[in-house]
Amino acid sequence: MSQLEGASIHIRGIVQGVGFRPFVYGLATKLSLTGWVRNTSAGVDIEVDGLSVNLARFLDALGAQAPPLARIDEIVVNRRPANGFSQFEIVQSAGDAQAVQPISADVGICPDCLRELFDSSDRRYRYPFINCTNCGPRFTIIKDIPYDRPKTTMAPFEMCVQCAAEYHDPLDRRFHAQPVACADCGPRIWLEIEGGRHAAQEEALQAARGLLRKGKIVAIKGLGGFHLACDATNPEAVAELRRRKLRVDKPFALMMPDLATVEHHCLISSDERELLESRERPIVLLARKTGSPIVQEVAPRQRTLGVMLPYTPLHYLLLAQEEGMPEALVMTSGNLSEEPIATDNQEARERLLPLADAFLMHDREIHMRCDDSVVRVFGRTDGDGLVYSLRRGRGYAPTPIKIGWDAPAMLTAGAELKNAFCLTKHKYAFLSHHIGDLENYETLHSFEQGVAHFERLFRVQPEVLAYDLHPDYLATRYAWARAEREGLTAIGVQHHHAHIASCMAEHGLSGAQPVIGVVFDGTGYGDDGAIWGGEFLIADYQGYQRSYHLAYVPLPGGDKAIKEPWRQALAWLQLAGVGWDEDLPPVGAVAPEARAAVKRQIEVGLNTPLTSSMGRLFDAVSALAGVRQMANYEAQAAIEFETRVDPDEGGSYPFDIGEREIDPTPLIRAIVADIRAWVPVDMIAARFHTGVALMVHEVCKALREQHHLNEVVLSGGVWQNMTLLTKSYELLTQDGFDVYVHQQVPANDGGLALGQAAIAAHMINN
Ligand code: ZN
Ligand code: ZN
Ligand code: FE
Repeated sequence: MSQLEGASIHIRGIVQGVGFRPFVYGLATKLSLTGWVRNTSAGVDIEVDGLSVNLARFLDALGAQAPPLARIDEIVVNRRPANGFSQFEIVQSAGDAQAVQPISADVGICPDCLRELFDSSDRRYRYPFINCTNCGPRFTIIKDIPYDRPKTTMAPFEMCVQCAAEYHDPLDRRFHAQPVACADCGPRIWLEIEGGRHAAQEEALQAARGLLRKGKIVAIKGLGGFHLACDATNPEAVAELRRRKLRVDKPFALMMPDLATVEHHCLISSDERELLESRERPIVLLARKTGSPIVQEVAPRQRTLGVMLPYTPLHYLLLAQEEGMPEALVMTSGNLSEEPIATDNQEARERLLPLADAFLMHDREIHMRCDDSVVRVFGRTDGDGLVYSLRRGRGYAPTPIKIGWDAPAMLTAGAELKNAFCLTKHKYAFLSHHIGDLENYETLHSFEQGVAHFERLFRVQPEVLAYDLHPDYLATRYAWARAEREGLTAIGVQHHHAHIASCMAEHGLSGAQPVIGVVFDGTGYGDDGAIWGGEFLIADYQGYQRSYHLAYVPLPGGDKAIKEPWRQALAWLQLAGVGWDEDLPPVGAVAPEARAAVKRQIEVGLNTPLTSSMGRLFDAVSALAGVRQMANYEAQAAIEFETRVDPDEGGSYPFDIGEREIDPTPLIRAIVADIRAWVPVDMIAARFHTGVALMVHEVCKALREQHHLNEVVLSGGVWQNMTLLTKSYELLTQDGFDVYVHQQVPANDGGLALGQAAIAAHMINN
C-alpha cells in the first residue's frame, strides 16, 4: 500500500536555462505530486509530496528523462514526511553569494525553432533571433547569475504580450527561455554601408545576400562576435579578404548551408556528420574532395577544410540556397590578423571598417566574446571515432570539466599562445573559452576581462594562482602581479608537466600511479632554462622525472627560428656533421650572408638558446626536404609537411636512443642521403613520420621495463598531427599500452591551464 511521503532534492550541474524547471513541473504534475521547484545559485532545489510509488518514479525520471541540454552532476535526496503542499509550482530563484553554478554554453538552433523559422504561418516566420529553452545564446549574453532575463543582454527588450504568455506558461517550449523574443519585441538586424544605415530587417538580409553573391566582404554579427564573410567559390573575393586581413596562407573556416552541400565538397564519416550537426556546431576539419569548387586560397596547400553548419537563425536565412547564393561562405573571425574578435557594434565599425564592404548588425549586445570551436575526429573507423578538440570555444565553453579532487578556489593563467585560463572550485574546473595569443595589449585586455567575468559568474574568489615558469609570458606576469597585489599563494608549474596533467585530468585519472607522459610541442620553458618540447616524463600530479628527451640543438635567432625553419635545419645539419652545401634546400634558399650570421650565432651562442623541441624538429625536416623555409603562421612548415605524407610508403628513419637523450642526427643524415638520391618528398615525409612513431614506441617500451608502468599519455601541440598520432597510437595500443589522448581539451597550449590547476591543487593538498 503506497503512502504519502515527501522529499527535499538538491541538484547540481547544468540545470538552468535548459528547460529543467518546466521538465520538473511537467513530471511532477503528471505524477500528481505537490510542492515546488526553484533555481538557486548552486543548482535546482525541489520539494515534493506524493504517494511513495509516484515519488520513486519521479526520482528515476529526474536523471533518465532530463532535457537534452541538462547535465546532472549530483542529486541529493532527503526523505521526509509529507509537508502538505496543495499544488506544484515554480517559485522565484534564490540567490546564494557563495555557490557555484555551471551555466550552459551557447546552443545551435534546435529543429523545432528551425521549422518555425521557415513556416510562413508561424508568427516568428523568418525572425533572425528565434530561440527557445532548447537552443539559442547563453554564455555570450549572461552578465551574472542566477540566469534570469534582467541579468542578460536581453534585459532592454521588453516582452510583448504573446512572448510573455509563452514565457510564463510552464507547458510551453519557451517557458522561462530568457532570450525569448519575436519581431515585435526583440532584437533587429540592419545593414550599414559606409557608416550609414542602408536597410533594415528582411531588406537588410536580402541586401547582404546580394553583396555576398557579388563577391563582396560582409561583416556579420553573430553569437560570440563578428565574422567576415565572402563567397568561398570566388577567387577574387577570397584573395581580397586575405589581403585586407593581412593573413597569409592560414586557412579560413567555411560555413555551408547543409550536410548535403558539405558532402559535395568533403569526404565525411558518420562521426564527422554527427559532430557537424551537434548542437555545439563546431568547425570540423574534413578531408577535402578533389574537384570541389571551393577556391584553393581558402586553405592553401592543405588537404583539409574547416567546415561548420549554420548555428543561428540568421545564418540559416543568410545561406538559404535560393537566387544563386554561394554554396559556401568563408566565415572567419572579424579581426585584423591576431587581434581578438570584434563584438561591440561601435568597436566593429572602427576596427573592421577597412576590412568589410558592409556590416550586417543587430542590437542584441554580446557580453562575452567567444570564438568558434575547432575539432576533428581521431580514428577514421566509422562509428567509433573520437572528438579531438583543437580550439575550445563556442558551444563547449564554459561547460565545466568534472575533476577527481576537491579543488580550492584557484585561478590558473595558462600559456602565451592559444591562451585559455582556468578557475576551479569544489569538483569543477571552468576552463575558459579560447582567448588567443597573449602577444598584444588587446588580447591581454580580453584575458583580463574574461578572468573578471568568470570569477563573478562562477563565484570564485581565487586564493591560489598558478602560472607557467616562462618569465616572459604575459599570463605569468599577470599572475605574479596579482599574487603580489592581493597577497595570494602563487605556484609555478613546468609547461610539459602541465600538458600531461591536463590530459590526465580530463580523463579523470586519479594520479595514484604515475604515467609515461610523451609531450611533444613547439616551445615550453624547461626547469634548466632551456626550451623543451620533445619530452618523456614519468609524471603524476605531484611531480615528474624527465626520463628521455630529444637531444639539445641550438635555436639560432630564438623566436626568429620559429618563423624561419631553415635556421633550425642548418643547426641540425651542423650537429649531424653535414656540410652546408647549396644542393640542400634550406642552404640554397638563403643568401650566404644570412647563413654566415646563423653560423656566428651558433658559435657564439648569441640569442641562441638550446632546445629539445619536437615541433622545431618537424620544422627543420620540412625545410630540409624543401617543403617550407619561411612560416607565415604557427607550425605551417610541419603542417604542410604532413600533407605530403605518402600513405603507401613503409620505410622509416632511425633515431639513436641513448641513456637519456634521443639523438636525431642519424635521421638527418638519412634524409640528406635520400634528398641526394632524388627520393620524392612524399616518401621522405612518410619515412620521417613513421620514424618518430617507432621511436615513441621504443622509448615507451624502455620506460615500461624500467618503471613497470603501462599508461601512456600523449600531449602537446605536435599531437595535432594526425599522421603521427594515428601511427603512434596504433603501435602503442597493439603492444598493450593504455593510451590516453586529448578529447575535450586541446592537446596544444589551449589545454594547459587545466593541467596547471591539477598540479597546483595537489601541491597544496600535500
Ligand atoms: Zn529552439
Ligand atoms: Zn514578442
Ligand atoms: Fe606547449
